[in-house]
Amino acid sequence: MDLVAGEDQRELTRMADTKPRLSLGFSGRQLLLWISFLLLAGLSVIAITFYANYAQKQLDADYIAFSSEIVRAQHDGETLRQSSLNLLDHPRPLHQRQLLQALWVIDSRRMTIEQYLRRSKLTPNDTQHILEEFAQLDTLLQEAGAIALDVLEYPGRLDALHDLTEDIDNSLAYIYSELHALMIQGATEQQHIMSVMTQIIIALGALVLVVILSLLVAIEKILGQQSALEQLSVTDELTGLDNRRAAMTKARQTLMLGRRSGASISLAIIDIDHFKRINDQYGHPFGDKVLQQLARTLKHMVRESDVPARIGGEEFCLLMPDTNSQGAYELCERLHQGIGNMVILHDDDIVPLTVSLGLTTTHGQQDYDFDLLYARADEALYRAKAGGRDRIVVY
Ligand code: GH3
Ligand code: MG
Ligand code: MG
Repeated sequence: MDLVAGEDQRELTRMADTKPRLSLGFSGRQLLLWISFLLLAGLSVIAITFYANYAQKQLDADYIAFSSEIVRAQHDGETLRQSSLNLLDHPRPLHQRQLLQALWVIDSRRMTIEQYLRRSKLTPNDTQHILEEFAQLDTLLQEAGAIALDVLEYPGRLDALHDLTEDIDNSLAYIYSELHALMIQGATEQQHIMSVMTQIIIALGALVLVVILSLLVAIEKILGQQSALEQLSVTDELTGLDNRRAAMTKARQTLMLGRRSGASISLAIIDIDHFKRINDQYGHPFGDKVLQQLARTLKHMVRESDVPARIGGEEFCLLMPDTNSQGAYELCERLHQGIGNMVILHDDDIVPLTVSLGLTTTHGQQDYDFDLLYARADEALYRAKAGGRDRIVVY
């Protein structure tokens, strides 16, 4: 029978038409965009975290070295002044050496701190006056060093040397108080940068969270749509029964198992008699309701293992696994009667409804073939119609 292939084709076309598009929330392209965005945001967070961490360490390292250098330098002026006084009171080689030593320490400290200042990210505006003071300090140190070298031979220069050490001490005091102010300013700026970075990281983290949540929702939606689509592809929309495709798949599986076990399998096709008249008389929507009522009766009357399906307009089929011809006939009789006894109301009128059934059962090995069984049931149905309808014919 060509009917199966032709109906299949129509079924496929119908399914393609009713197939819900995946446009309710996200298309594949949008999903890809979200994933790219997520990756980008993730990478940004990693990069910023890494940079912030790195910057923090760098700033900390420099800052600590810089400030400890300045703290140690606070005593340099004091030491110089003391050794200068000692030399003034007792001009001896020991005190001369101590003074030279103090000058050397101040000079080497000056070079170290100057290096820090030039290496730091401070603007020339911030450091210019300190560097200028350092240049002056350098001159004073050189002058003091030159005098200190031979002051024991020329004691008349002791006072001048002492004055120079006082100038040096004052210069140091000025430099270190300026450096101190700079350090406080730097620390405040660092703190500000760190807090802005922290805020950015928190914002990005929240963004990533939102993106992840949106993705999960999108995936859930798509999976839901997929399963709805799968369900739709095997269900008859009007009656909720299996459609032709599902019936064929299940029948083929059942027949394959039956061939091995040898269990009898029966197939019936049930067709409403003169259904066209019902449509013509009461309208198509009413016809639909009749089809739904019949489907409910069918579902209600068969066993759990039986497979009822709607295979065409007003045509249903019933696959009965593990059912011999006797059992199948009894079930068909019950169905025939049950459907005939259905009370179908249109306003206050009772609409009479009868069905014709074509029934067939496997007997030999060669019968476990869906197309063959279907053709036989269809042939039986044809004979039921030709014989006057409202009856069961067994092939
Ligand atoms: P017969 O006893 O020979 O089976 O006569 P019939 O009128 O039942 O058969 P026929 O094949 O001439 O007409 C079938 C009718 O079923 C025609 C069509 O309009 C109607 N039909 C098919 N599908 C649907 C449907 O989904 N809803 C409704 N209301 N009617 C349908
Ligand atoms: Mg009919
Ligand atoms: Mg028909």
